[in-house]
Amino acid sequence: MREFDAIVLTPAETAFRGKATMLVARAVDGEIAVMAGHTPLVTALAPGLLRIRTGTEMRFATTGGLLRVYSDRVVVAVEAAERPEDIDLARAEAARERALKRLDEPGRGHVTAEAALSRSLVRIAAARRARQT
Ligand code: ATP
Repeated sequence: MREFDAIVLTPAETAFRGKATMLVARAVDGEIAVMAGHTPLVTALAPGLLRIRTGTEMRFATTGGLLRVYSDRVVVAVEAAERPEDIDLARAEAARERALKRLDEPGRGHVTAEAALSRSLVRIAAARRARQT
């Protein structure tokens, strides 16, 4: 399988840089799989699981961001990207409870609470799955 350069950037760090044969991410309008030779594009990412096939498969729980496919490389730029085994499950569960409470309350802030809820659910799912395997 042909390889391409993949890079995952957050404001804090380069979470991944290396060769990949496939990258699968959650775009706002559905899952997108990229292989070498993919048409160049830019798309917005939703919180979700990012999978990078390298030989094994590397997984990251990511927040929303951007996916940019160039002719020779793929750049993922997100607010945060965590390896599932690095996720603090109790923190993510607390974030979910806070977000649910805010969604139950009348008034403003539901959009940010929904976004926080999505991030927490992605982290919880990724962390639980990593702990099962
Ligand atoms: P919280 O309310 O717990 O801070 P959040 O969704 O608001 O959650 P983010 O703003 O997405 O957090 O992330 C801020 C920083 O904290 C990022 O560096 C992110 O990787 C890290 N982070 C957030 N939640 C977790 C978690 N459950 N485990 C490990 N790192 C986390």
